[in-house]
Amino acid sequence: MLEVRQRTAPLWNRQCIVCHDAATMNASLKPADLTRAAGLAHLARALPRLGQEYATRGHHAPDPGTPPTTGLLSPWLRLRLLTEQEVISAATAAQGAGAEKFIHAVFWRTYFKGHLEQHPELWHEYRVGLSDAQERLGGNRGLARLYGQAIGGTTGLDCLDAWSDELVRTGWLHHHVRMWFASIWIFSLGLPWQLGADFFAQHLLDHDPACNTLSWRWVAGLHTRGKPYIARAENIQRYTNGRFNPAHMLDEAPTTLAEPDPMPACPLPPPDGWPATATALLLHEDDLAPESLVPDYVRIVRIGVLASQSEASSLVRASRAVALADASARAEAAFGVTATLLADVAAVEAWSEGAPIATPYAPVGPVADALADALAGLDLHRIQRPWDQHHWPHCARGFFQLRAKVA
Ligand SMILES: Cc1cc2nc3c(=O)[nH]c(=O)nc-3n(C[C@H](O)[C@H](O)[C@H](O)COP(=O)(O)OP(=O)(O)OC[C@H]3O[C@@H](n4cnc5c(N)ncnc54)[C@H](O)[C@@H]3O)c2cc1C
Repeated sequence: MLEVRQRTAPLWNRQCIVCHDAATMNASLKPADLTRAAGLAHLARALPRLGQEYATRGHHAPDPGTPPTTGLLSPWLRLRLLTEQEVISAATAAQGAGAEKFIHAVFWRTYFKGHLEQHPELWHEYRVGLSDAQERLGGNRGLARLYGQAIGGTTGLDCLDAWSDELVRTGWLHHHVRMWFASIWIFSLGLPWQLGADFFAQHLLDHDPACNTLSWRWVAGLHTRGKPYIARAENIQRYTNGRFNPAHMLDEAPTTLAEPDPMPACPLPPPDGWPATATALLLHEDDLAPESLVPDYVRIVRIGVLASQSEASSLVRASRAVALADASARAEAAFGVTATLLADVAAVEAWSEGAPIATPYAPVGPVADALADALAGLDLHRIQRPWDQHHWPHCARGFFQLRAKVA
């Protein structure tokens, strides 16, 4: 009975709703917060601000220690400790039509994931571009010094230095700050965008291959071609409430970047079905809500949890370890089977003992790369969520193609 309840009850409203003092909500996230229970409690606390307040104040980057202006839900959404669907349902239930702007924001995540899935070459080009840029650091002392100053928070540009420090210390930056940061990195400092995307990848608690890579490309004017995002001192002053004013310190009319035309979109893979026999369930950091993925009729006989594939800061690695342990405990409770932590993909074949393996579909990124290398030849079922199956086909081109479908 317990198992059935856990697998079918609406997931977001089963937790008690704890009211916290608004001032505490902006405190830095701790690795221990990266559990589903903490995410649900956090969602409950965020709901009151996801309507009008989000629409009017969401662009303001709050001063450290002041209440947040956005949902601060991406660390849980990124790992699918919370799903897009349940967050949107909760926001709609709480705010009705007032949640439109917030919902629109959540769809950017779906969009970027669906887009990268159909343009996987962008991920591989980013990885190659990053290696090239890292190599250039070795042979160019000026570039290496500037890069060191940018990531060390010692450029002398007080906003960028403060944001570098905030990112490294807390694993977090507000969306508008990420836009300014990336724009200043690319256009005012003239650093390769791939090095900036990698700096974010090392430190963001919500680092996501699609959202990060494509957002950096978007700022650079490579996603929406020829339309870079230019950080302006006046805009920074306004939306940081006067905390920073880099007047005359930014290049506000830069030479834009260019690259060859993109390749045509790849077809999305057809969805795999669940195995008909006793199944080995392989969980990984791209989807940690097995209770809402596995249908009641599937018989899970083994659970494996793949260790994080992220090569990131100790803060990120600690938070991923907490999230994986939490998913492991929830899966054990839901399916009545002991979970095994798998240090890497090389351990998967022996762990499965020949049973068909079902795993949440890993979108383009490190987990998918690792699984593709190691699991070729195994009976592997990559299970897509209906949410992705439904929305990704509308993400091959620009965001507004998807938006028109969900409006
Ligand atoms: C250069 C750059 C790099 C980024 N890197 C990442 C990343 O690695 N991981 C990541 O999750 N987001 C990334 N973003 C997107 C966005 O900044 C964060 O999702 C957002 O700041 C999370 O804060 P929030 O939860 O308070 O967002 P809210 O404003 O409350 O939005 C709700 C949810 O919508 C989604 N969302 C909102 N805006 C975006 C967006 N532009 N793109 C994708 N999803 C969005 C997030 O899941 C977010 O939790 C990046 C943006 C930029 C400009």
